[in-house]
Amino acid sequence: MSLFYGRNTSVSSALSKYSYIPTQIEQSGRAALEGAQSVGVDTTVCFGLKIALGNITKSHPINTVQGFQRIRDFALQHQAGVILGNKSRVCGCGKRKIDKDLPRGVVYNEKTEKAHFNNVQYCGSVWVCKVCAKKITEQRKQEIALAATQWTKGVCRLYFDYSEYHKDFVGAIRPKIEYIRGYVYMITLTNSHNASHSLEFQREGQKKAMKRFFEGRTSTSLMQRLGKRYHVTNYEVTLGQNGWHPHHHILVFSDKKLDDDFFQLRDDMARHWINCCKKSGLPLPSLEHGLDLVYGKTAQQVVSQYLCKWGVEHEMTKGHTKQGKEGGLTPFDLLRKSEYLDEPVHGRKPSEWFREFAIAFKGARQLVWSRGLKDLFGLRDKSDEEILEETTEEAKQIDTVADMVFSLLVKYKKLAEYLNAVECDIVHGTSEVKRVVDFVVDQEIVILEEMVLQSERRRGGGVPDRPTEEAANDCNAQMNIFSFG
Ligand SMILES: [Zn+2]
Repeated sequence: MSLFYGRNTSVSSALSKYSYIPTQIEQSGRAALEGAQSVGVDTTVCFGLKIALGNITKSHPINTVQGFQRIRDFALQHQAGVILGNKSRVCGCGKRKIDKDLPRGVVYNEKTEKAHFNNVQYCGSVWVCKVCAKKITEQRKQEIALAATQWTKGVCRLYFDYSEYHKDFVGAIRPKIEYIRGYVYMITLTNSHNASHSLEFQREGQKKAMKRFFEGRTSTSLMQRLGKRYHVTNYEVTLGQNGWHPHHHILVFSDKKLDDDFFQLRDDMARHWINCCKKSGLPLPSLEHGLDLVYGKTAQQVVSQYLCKWGVEHEMTKGHTKQGKEGGLTPFDLLRKSEYLDEPVHGRKPSEWFREFAIAFKGARQLVWSRGLKDLFGLRDKSDEEILEETTEEAKQIDTVADMVFSLLVKYKKLAEYLNAVECDIVHGTSEVKRVVDFVVDQEIVILEEMVLQSERRRGGGVPDRPTEEAANDCNAQMNIFSFG
């Protein structure tokens, strides 16, 4: 048992309870010292005891609000892996190595004051992985906020008008500049549904209906009345009493101020949407509920309403991460409900609902910008993967994590706490990383010791001085359970 720190394991469990809870250490530092001395511990080399003696003065709460949120996000990521199985990408997200020959590293971004692991694969799923979803949507919401604000403040569009040149013209075409100071509206599209309509059925139907909504003569005429120049489409889903409720939010970048025509236009668009649903085989929505058009007295008002009140960027890109309103549960709500009791909601277990969602939404695009819109604001078209890579690219590597330690952090679900500890140590000069590592090592030692004892008891022998071969095999099997290549 000289595997970890070369410590006398017979006292490790006695110390572990002091080495993890700061308040307890402060109150009972002397008791810990006395207790440890009574079992013959060398007080100068024992890490647990050092904490009890002095390091505690540097202690600092590592779980801030953001830190706690990270722990919850990692827990939900773990739960998605449990539901979707070992073969799902989310199961190994942030854990499996990219280069098997290199150790995993810890990187720290000084600008954001955030730590991450590197040389690990990310699943990149905005639908099922809370950790990836957060990183990706944070960036996406900033892009939308920037575009919407810029559009209403004024933007210059560079374009080429070939109609002014003769068809045989040879030479440089001069670019033209159009100045646009526009308006922003939001359209929400839904169809009626009940518990018997599967999510896959609705998704397929909506895909066709959405295509129809933007195509054809009726659409062109409606979009002209709306003054639509560009749009961003977002897709999301909640679960309610009437089953799955997948819906689209469309942020319209318009160059027209809607006045008298607003209500007539809204109703005409709603009729057009009902028609699109009909042709696509979807259950028809009512005129009141199928389509909603949001506007303000000024375009700026609409942008402010969304950005400041609850944020268009939240509604547009964080639909499935926000808490469901009015009884509607988001997919991540379902994950949360499945964590403990997994008690049925709306007739099925949350884990079953979540599995259906994960299958139906695999490959679905959360956010689609119409062509040319990103160019207008100089926004590079980054893929979700690029955003995830950037988080670690901009950061400096500060340490490596031994495979054994990483496996223990995975096994005892302490990855998030480890990263919180890294950030805390850098900002406050504490020794929290050491404490987290010490905690998981202590836990493991207790379990391995217990396994050796149980194995010996099964064989009917006494407690041996050294583990037998059988006990050693048990320990090896235990180690293999949590090894991530
Ligand atoms: Zn992921």
